[in-house]
Amino acid sequence: MSLDFLGNLERTHLCGDLRAADAGKQVVLMGWVNRRRDHGNLIFLDLRDRSGIAQIVLDAEICPEGHKKGEQVRPEYVVAAIGKVRRRAADAINPKMPTGEIEIEATELRVLNDARLAPFSPAEEAIQNEEVRLKHRYVDLRRAEMQRNFRLRHEITLAIRDDLSQQGFLEIETPILTKSTPEGARDFLVPSRVHPGEFYALPQSPQIFKQILMISGFDRYFQIARCFRDEDLRADRQLEFTQVDLEMSFPRQETVFGVVEQFLKAGFAAAGVDLPAPFPRISYDESLRQYGTDKPDLRLPGLVDVRPAFRDEDLAKLQIDPALPVVAFRIPGVGELSRKEREDNHPLFDIKKGAKFIDDFKRLAKGFPDQAAKVRELAAAAEEDFVLIVAGDPAHPVKASDTKFPGRLSEREINVYAAAGNFRSELAKKYAERHGAFRLTDEVVQKAAARNPGEALLDGSRAFHPIWLTDFPMFEYDLAAAKWVPAHHPFTAPIEADMPNLVSDPASVRANCYDLAMNGLELGSGSIRIHRKDVQQQIFASLGITDEEARARFGFFLDALDYGTPPHGGIALGLDRIVMLLAGAPSLREVIAFPKTAKAIDLMADAPTPVSEQQLKELHLRVALKS
Ligand code: ASP
Repeated sequence: MSLDFLGNLERTHLCGDLRAADAGKQVVLMGWVNRRRDHGNLIFLDLRDRSGIAQIVLDAEICPEGHKKGEQVRPEYVVAAIGKVRRRAADAINPKMPTGEIEIEATELRVLNDARLAPFSPAEEAIQNEEVRLKHRYVDLRRAEMQRNFRLRHEITLAIRDDLSQQGFLEIETPILTKSTPEGARDFLVPSRVHPGEFYALPQSPQIFKQILMISGFDRYFQIARCFRDEDLRADRQLEFTQVDLEMSFPRQETVFGVVEQFLKAGFAAAGVDLPAPFPRISYDESLRQYGTDKPDLRLPGLVDVRPAFRDEDLAKLQIDPALPVVAFRIPGVGELSRKEREDNHPLFDIKKGAKFIDDFKRLAKGFPDQAAKVRELAAAAEEDFVLIVAGDPAHPVKASDTKFPGRLSEREINVYAAAGNFRSELAKKYAERHGAFRLTDEVVQKAAARNPGEALLDGSRAFHPIWLTDFPMFEYDLAAAKWVPAHHPFTAPIEADMPNLVSDPASVRANCYDLAMNGLELGSGSIRIHRKDVQQQIFASLGITDEEARARFGFFLDALDYGTPPHGGIALGLDRIVMLLAGAPSLREVIAFPKTAKAIDLMADAPTPVSEQQLKELHLRVALKS
């Protein structure tokens, strides 16, 4: 069909904003045809823009030309409708639509562009095939849900920015083409054309630069910073992601916590969620004991020590290691599992790690009725709660090297807790899902709430439970490299009292760092930094980084430390994750406009791709591919 020009036409309103009170107004609306219904003399167009949908009526009597065009327009055509707002007849009111009380009686229709038929319609709510969505992202982003997610992202970001500014933070940009900043991932490298054989690295974080900004006296810095990490592919990871990154001078841990609690509160408020502060705090060791993980999900009850329910001889009969923790957890409302369900779960239980589990309470109760009852009592389990016991398995002793954090808890203890924590979150997801997309029945929710008012359950309700984790080990042992490596980046200060043990007993040294977890996700981590050169050098040395290596990688930073560095510290929070949680989205890809797939591909832009010989030549590169 022939297309119209926009000419001098100005849009007067957004579709979704019109209400009954606007009746009688002359309006010009522009947008996409969401749906078209042809009733002969009357054609209805649902016109969509980012604010919502308004119904346009093309009446062959009133607007013959527009009606004729209306016969030809198709979904996703871009049109301008000119006309008058009128109230709908009582029987035509659509209470489900915010604009359902009105429609626009068109006097003119301009067809500004046509559209190819996409493999799916933005009017559809759930589209199963994510690859198709990502390939046609421009159409996918038109969907109401995606429009909502990005609006939300904008509001949250704006509120955080605003709050940080009010707290005295200056937003300062740091370079994208730079030198490696170690955050534990591989660097993305960018070859230099003018310096043959030399490379920039994309920042894994602004870490070194933000510390230098403290040396430069800016006192409080923040940035909504893009970070690039060439990590091994895991589900729901993005190679580039956004952090709310900040640094401040002269802080205590508590100072940083206060700043974060305030700006997060503001960000959550922008999404209509009240986040009570201060957030609870827990030490890393305690988190392992209570949740079996350093990313505790407080929406479910934690692990309970049920060792007191058993005598030593019971444990011997049950083939449970008496020297290791015996813990249980419950998942509210799930009930006893069927045999089939238990069997289906078995692959989840990786007993090789030295943990064993008891998930058949009926069976346990036959041989050990008092003990089974006591376990349920210790776990405060109601009749309808599923309970699982996790304990040490003497048949599978764990080798000392099986764990990342040797130290204050023994490796085998950690493995029992970690196995329990793992089962807890896996099973919670699985069985909460069984109750309908993380939504438990009202009855179950009420019962659980009556028992424990703080217990929010994985029910899809908007429950957000932040928690600070502190007192992490400073180092972890990297088996492959056979050396101690920092559990965090190497600029993290040790807790002052532990400094004398840096070399003699690295496993015992705690880091002056902290994580923020929420609903089982790590939202961010940060630390008080090393501000003295001698300590920084000592840390490098204890990590086996030679002076030459340190100079080559961070010489500029070591120099800067010499010029009057204030004590400083900071944190970075994953903005994508915050938005994902608040949007209730199942994946980061739902809140990143142009994400990459789990295989690190941009399906829409088709990246990465080979480049021309000419480009390679300019960059002094040759590609050596094994055939
Ligand atoms: N640079 C750290 C990170 O990206 C955060 C911090 O220590 O401030 O995880």
